[in-house]
Amino acid sequence: MALMKNIPKIDLHRHLEGSVEPETLLHIARTWGGELPAYELEKLRPHIQMTAEQPGFATFLSKFSVYRGFYTCREAIEYAVCRAVAAAAEDTVKYLELRYSPTHFASRGRFCERDVVEWIHTAMQRTARECGIIAVPILTISRDYGFDLAASTVDMALSMPDGYFMGLDIAGDEISHSAEPFARLFEKFRARGLGLSIHAGEVCGSAHVRQSVEQFGARRIGHGISSARDPELMRLLSERDVLLEVCLTSNIDTGAVRNIREHPLRTLMDNAVPVCLNTDDPAISAITLSHEYVLAAAELGCSADTLKQLNQAALRHAFHPDQAWLQKKIGHYWQ
Ligand SMILES: [Zn+2]
Repeated sequence: MALMKNIPKIDLHRHLEGSVEPETLLHIARTWGGELPAYELEKLRPHIQMTAEQPGFATFLSKFSVYRGFYTCREAIEYAVCRAVAAAAEDTVKYLELRYSPTHFASRGRFCERDVVEWIHTAMQRTARECGIIAVPILTISRDYGFDLAASTVDMALSMPDGYFMGLDIAGDEISHSAEPFARLFEKFRARGLGLSIHAGEVCGSAHVRQSVEQFGARRIGHGISSARDPELMRLLSERDVLLEVCLTSNIDTGAVRNIREHPLRTLMDNAVPVCLNTDDPAISAITLSHEYVLAAAELGCSADTLKQLNQAALRHAFHPDQAWLQKKIGHYWQ
């Protein structure tokens, strides 16, 4: 583990919502208030983390309910952001794309989403500077909140200065809600030259991945692992250079993959599909990115050279608008 911790890494798929550790929640509740189902660490843990219980998509999503109605003030949100960015830096993540839904953080305090974005942006960039990590914010809209709310969040995000959001992601329950009604919002982001990543093909079949690429023009797919069962789709992903943001432990936790040995990472790589390793929700899965590297090496036979290639693929697909600057700044880590 120590070895993997020291390797410089990139994480393109990490949710701020799921990066707030139980210790951080307790600190916030004690300092600024906020309702929790328990106020002792070990009693709180099962409410927000996947533990020994049965994996499953609904169980995994249910862990977010504690967080959703939690943040009572600006300081609480800023503290959560600082801890999340610092934890990535401590794990030697050099480039982090941190996605979040302003709606999630605004709901409890009925804050204006624009204010929430200002707070998060300032705290994220300040901590990133202090910790020597590049942190890039991505806007998340949720299928579960419906079109109207997503549309107003997207319009607000696009009215912010450059750098406040470098890409758009759609998350939420892929089983119950199609991404199709949100297509107009994807187009607005793409028209600005910003990246688009769609959660698809995680617990559903490969048709959602194909639709995301062909119909919505996604440059990256969150998870997308069901593509491994569709050779024609893998050819398409390879030809169009669409990256799958793979999250090993998350796939086990949601029940998308039964056990780590059955994970299709190698199949995807063998078929020249661009992939990289990410954490998804490190606090909920109780992992770090280093932990995912250990898994990839020990259970899926990824060599140090393979891990380096995964980081090179991640860097090439980063949503940061200045690829040349990025390569110069951090590309040397994986040469
Ligand atoms: Zn995700």
